[in-house]
Amino acid sequence: MTIFKKIIDKEIPADIVFEDDLCLAFRDVSPQAPTHILLIPKKEIRSMNDIDPASDKEVLGHLMVQAHEIAKSEGLGEDGYRLVINTNKNGGQSVYHLHIHIMGGRALAWPPG
Ligand code: AMP
Repeated sequence: MTIFKKIIDKEIPADIVFEDDLCLAFRDVSPQAPTHILLIPKKEIRSMNDIDPASDKEVLGHLMVQAHEIAKSEGLGEDGYRLVINTNKNGGQSVYHLHIHIMGGRALAWPPG
């Protein structure tokens, strides 16, 4: 079980900004930008490598729509923001429960290191 599953189950605290039947969003404990939120499916999916092309379409589409809604409600829409899904070792993934980083509030460098 990952730490994110424990946050879903409310076994450990998190600064939750949005929740519905399919997903949960909370502030990153180590923010890399003025706004840094993690958006996760409640379904335990390890990484982008583990998505089911058929049955996970709804939840993945929902995550993208909610990512935008959250960015908008955080006031990031006009200046812009970045969505990131780190995948496995070379992607820099450290928690193996799929998550979208929603980052904004400053100009972000490109390319990432
Ligand atoms: P990644 O490296 O893409 O797997 O991102 C994992 C993210 O989870 C990192 O940005 C961590 O700072 C964040 N993180 C780890 N534990 C927690 C926690 N308990 N609450 C909030 N964010 C966390």
